[in-house]
Order: sequence, then C-alpha cells, then structure tokens
Amino acid sequence: MMARRPPKPTSARTVRRSDERSNEKLAQDRIRLAKLSEGGAAERPITVESSSLVELRASALPCPRCLGEQRVDDHTAHAVAGDVLRAAHTRCKQCGFERTVWFRIAQRLAN
Ligand SMILES: [Zn+2]
Repeated sequence: MMARRPPKPTSARTVRRSDERSNEKLAQDRIRLAKLSEGGAAERPITVESSSLVELRASALPCPRCLGEQRVDDHTAHAVAGDVLRAAHTRCKQCGFERTVWFRIAQRLAN
C-alpha cells in the first residue's frame, strides 16, 4: 500500500502521525509476541481436552493487533510430526486481523 504523505503537515498532524506510528509499533510487538506464545505456531500448540474446546479457546484470545474480539472463521486438522493438530483460523471483529491459533488435543492414555 502506497500512502501519499501530505506535503506540509500541521504540527497537530505530525503529533497524531507519530502516535499512530508508536501504536503500530506496539501492535507489531504484540503480533510478534503472540507468534512466540503458546498457540502461536504449530511447534507450540495449546493443549485442550477435546476438539470442541478449540473454537471456544481461540475466540477467547484477544486480537494481538488491536486487542479486539476475534471470531473463528475456520478450523482445520493437520498431521504434524505424528500428532494431529487443530488450527483455528481467526479474524478480528474490529480490525480484520487474521491469525492461526494452534491446538493439540490431549490423548487419553489407554490403560
Ligand atoms: Zn484487531
């Protein structure tokens, strides 16, 4: 996206723009942190007791970008390194940010 800058910003506009920049930087930090947290990658799934909890848990997480409410668009199963993982594809209701939250269903031990 190529946003054209106004040629002569007023000082108020300059201040607002620098606020937006620091907000955006915070948002990028939160997005990076969310990827490193539990559920942020296939290597770091959130363990749940049952697949019915996947969408519930995923939609309870705040949007890392704007801290808004997320809804689950889709929920898919993936075989990764001998485990079956569930990926909840979420979209923020406020800003539209999309992410994938990873889950592993805890296997009940036989005997
Ligand atoms: Zn958001």
